[in-house]
Order: sequence, then structure tokens, then C-alpha cells
Amino acid sequence: MAGSSRIVKGRQRWSGMFRLLGIVAMLASTSTAQSAIAPVPADPQIAAALHQISAARIQATIEKLVGFQNRSTLSAQDPSSIATGKGIGAARDWIQAELAGYSKACGGCLEIKTDTFREGPVDRIPQPIEITNVYAVQKGTNPGEAGRIVLVTGHYDSRNSENLNTTDPAPGANDDASGTAVSLECARVLSQYKFPATLIFLTVAGEEQGLNGSRHFAQMAKAEGWSLEAVLNNDIVGGDRSLQQNPDLVRVFSEGVPAAATEADLRLIRNVGGESDSLSRQLARYIAEVGRTYDAGIEPLLVFRQDRYLRGGDHVSFNQQGFAAVRFTEFREDYNHQHQNVRTENGVEYGDLPKFVDFDYIARVARLNAATLASLASAPAPPPKVRLLLKRLENESTLAWETAPGGRVVRYEVLWRSTTSPEWEYVQAVGNVTQITLPQSKDNVIFAVRAVDKDGHRSLPVVPVPER
Ligand SMILES: [Zn+2]
Repeated sequence: MAGSSRIVKGRQRWSGMFRLLGIVAMLASTSTAQSAIAPVPADPQIAAALHQISAARIQATIEKLVGFQNRSTLSAQDPSSIATGKGIGAARDWIQAELAGYSKACGGCLEIKTDTFREGPVDRIPQPIEITNVYAVQKGTNPGEAGRIVLVTGHYDSRNSENLNTTDPAPGANDDASGTAVSLECARVLSQYKFPATLIFLTVAGEEQGLNGSRHFAQMAKAEGWSLEAVLNNDIVGGDRSLQQNPDLVRVFSEGVPAAATEADLRLIRNVGGESDSLSRQLARYIAEVGRTYDAGIEPLLVFRQDRYLRGGDHVSFNQQGFAAVRFTEFREDYNHQHQNVRTENGVEYGDLPKFVDFDYIARVARLNAATLASLASAPAPPPKVRLLLKRLENESTLAWETAPGGRVVRYEVLWRSTTSPEWEYVQAVGNVTQITLPQSKDNVIFAVRAVDKDGHRSLPVVPVPER
């Protein structure tokens, strides 16, 4: 056994020398080289924007929303209730006015819109009602890229112990005034800057009835053919102040096998081992990378699962329409402070009250969101039609793609990782080309291609499809 182990060592040394020679030859022939992936350089404008995110503003937003008493989707939205500041109609109007204020501050840079529709009777909506999503559009400044959209959302409806209770307090400070506040604060701050691609700051209703608002919005985006590249859903990002909370982490949930996968997609996923390479998973990895580039004060904890165990949220509505969408949620939820009537029983306080959330934590989550939104909206479009060319069996791998639209790309980068690695491990800059052959075998790694602009902004990576 000892002898055989020595022989293996000897063989490894020789193969190591051949590998080194191979790398030297490759260096000589391409003048570019692979390297272990390093953090993307920070953009000073994005770093400056993050400093504008204010915990005090977030606190004010959450307290305002809680002040509407009950924001059930089934609660009042008639003019007299709105006048008294009670119910979801008052919350809706306030969000709209708040976004309009941000727009005024940026010289009208935001277009404030509503998406209103009738729903019911369906499960948890016994009578037909009107549901309104409120959103602001910050149009991209590059005409060739204004069709590209990056979106952040939270749900402004709330509930207490009874889903049909529309009058008793349902403060929803954490679920989900926190996510609504993230969307609004990103709008307030990022509207002071310009980006080549379009940003949408969305707040939806109907989440607690069955994701009704987000479903309607995502179906509209699909029907209208939006180029919606990324959806960041913030739901329960309050950082509940329970002892077991980890205030340094925010969970980022992403689906593996896409909800919208066809039978053909599933066959391909099985054949190539593509279970961890959905659009949403690439977005989650991008967020992890943004977290290493910018100091948001919080670390994204990637969870490779669509949502918490057997649960759901508004990002699922977007996943179902084939869009990349992830969910941000605090590290540890406290169920005494969600979907509960406000009360004290046996010394235990129940209810989703502002005093249980951590406004500084929410500001850190907002910074991570804003950095991701700004990075994506600054980056070039992802390269289209990325393929692995398989005309013959070979150990090298040839990747091809089409020029990313927008005219801003200065080079492309090929990324790869071992099939067992959660994140990209290696990168090779390949210049402003649309085809490259690399010595790594496609049998052993997973590849992706991303586009880079002159300032170093990176697009979302695109995993190739096979082309025979
Ligand atoms: Zn929620």
C-alpha cells in the first residue's frame, strides 16, 4: 500500500508539471488568464448612495403604515375611511403621495403608477374587492437599455390572527411594513442618481390573501413582454429583536429548479446537472457578490430553496412567470410577532409592533438591496444566447454568445465553478469577443458568461445552453 501511494504521488507530480506547462502555453497564446474570483470593484457613486439610506426615514415609514390601524386587503378603502386615515385605502394613498414627493425632489424623475384590478370571490376574498399595487418607475438613461428593468418590492397589506378581520389592529410592522419601507427608501435614495437601465420600486397588496397583487403584476409584466432581469422581494426584514436573532445576517431565498420550467427544461436540467443554476440562483449569487463589494453592514445568507420550508411569498409570483426573483427575510422569525392579535397572555407579548423591529437592521437590508439594484442597473445587459458548442466530443470547452445590447460592453468574462461549489470560483477575462475556447472540460465544471462595462460593472452571469 505504501508503495502504491508513492507511485500515485509521483504520477501527480508529473501531471502537475504537465498542467503547469499547459497553463504557461495558454498564457502565451491568449495573454489572459484564469484566476480565483475576486470581489468586483466598488463604484464610488453606489457607495455614496448607500450612505444616504436612513434608519430614521425607515422608522418614520413603518410608524406611518402602522398608524393606518389595519391594512388588510379586505379593509376599508372608501373616501371617508381614507379621510380618517384608517384601512388599506389610506395606506395606498399615502404610499402614492410619498413616492410623488420623492419624484418632486428629483425633478420628476419618477413616474408614479398604480395597477388596480378586481379580485374575488376566491379563497380568502369572500366578496369582490379592488386591489391596488403602487409603484414608481425610474426610467433608464440609456435609450438602448431603458427596456431593461430591475425591481424591488414589499407588500403593504397586513393581517392579525383572523384573516378576515378588517378593523382590529393589524400593525404589520415587520410583515411587511419593513419590506415596504425598503422599497420606498431605495426609491427615495436611488432616484437622486442616474442609471442606464430602469428601476421599479413596487409595493403590492393582497399578499396575505394569496399573493394576489404580485400575481397580477407579474402576469402583466409577462404579458407585456417586459425585460425584467431581477426582482428583490423583501418580506419580514425587520430583524425582530428576539435574543436568538442574528443581526449580521439576512437570508436570501432562491429557487433551484424553476417554477416555470417546461418538460424540455426539466430534461435539460437533469442531463447537465443544472439544478442549482436557475435565473433566481444567479441573482442570489450576484447579491452575495454585491455583499462582498459594498459594506452594507449585513451579510446575505444564501438559502438554496424557493422560500422558507413549505411557505411562499411575492417572489414566487414572479418565479411562476419565469422571472429571476429572490426573497430577503430576517435570519430568525418570531411567530409571536406575526399574524397575531395585539395582546399579552401569560406575560408574553403578541403582535407585530414597531417596538419589536430593529430599524438599523432594516436600513442595512435596504443598503444591500440598493447596492444590488444600483449594480444591476449600472451594469450592461447580460450577454444573450450564451451556448456551449458541442459539434464534436473534446475536452476543451467552446462558449459562444451574442453582443449584449446597449453598446457599453468593453469585455466579457467567463466564470466557472466545480459542480459541487455553491458560488463561482474562477474568472477569465476574454476581451470583447463572442466566442472563446477554454481548456477546462464542460464535464467537470459549470460555466457562465457575464458582460463588463468600462467602469467595471458586471452583468448577471448567464449559464450556457448546449448547441449541437
Ligand atoms: Zn409577508
